[in-house]
Amino acid sequence: MFEKRRPGAVLFDRDGTLIRDVLYNGDPDLVEPMPGAIEALGRLRRADVPLAVVTNQSGVAKGLLSPDDMDQVNAKVEELLGPFDAWAICVHDDADGCTCRKPAPGLVIRAAAVLDVSPRDCVVVGDIGRDMEAARAAGARGILVPTQETPAAEIKEAAEVADDLADVVERVLSDAEGPVPAISAPWARAMGWSRW
Ligand SMILES: [Mg+2]
Ligand SMILES: [Zn+2]
Repeated sequence: MFEKRRPGAVLFDRDGTLIRDVLYNGDPDLVEPMPGAIEALGRLRRADVPLAVVTNQSGVAKGLLSPDDMDQVNAKVEELLGPFDAWAICVHDDADGCTCRKPAPGLVIRAAAVLDVSPRDCVVVGDIGRDMEAARAAGARGILVPTQETPAAEIKEAAEVADDLADVVERVLSDAEGPVPAISAPWARAMGWSRW
C-alpha cells in the first residue's frame, strides 16, 4: 500500500469558508473569521503546508465593489487570519466567460502554479458546489464545509464533506501523520529499509 502524502497546498475559498459571507463586501470592519478558521490555519502552517485563497469577487465586475476596497478587505483577512502564500482572485462575472471564475478551474491552477505544486497535490476547501467543481476540474481534492446557506443538492453532490475546518485539518494531516505500516517483507528488512 502506498503511503498517503500531505498535500502540496491547501487552497481556501474566502467567503463562507474562511470568513463570514457578506455579499460584495468592501468594508474591512465587516470581516469576521469563520469558527475555527484561525486554529485550522495555524495547524496547517505549523505543518508547513502552503496556503492560498481562491476567491470569486464578481462584485468588482458588477461595479458594486472597487478593487481598492477588495484589497482592503483582503488585507484585513490576513491581519486576522495570518498571511497566505498566494491569492488567486477572479474579478469577473458569469457573462464574461473567463477561465478563472469558479466552477472553472483557473484559480486553482493559478494558485498551484504560484506555489509551484501540481493541482493534483492540492486540496480545495469551500462552502458551495462551485468550489468543488473547480477542484474537480483542476484535478484537485475538494472538501466541502457546508454552512446553513449551502444548498442540500450541493452537499449531496460533493465527493467529500467535512463537519468544520477542524475536521478538514484532521482529514488533510492525518493522511501524512498516520501510522507507518509495519514492514512484513523479509527482503525489505534484509535491505535495511525501515519504510518506503
Ligand atoms: Mg464561498
Ligand atoms: Zn475570472
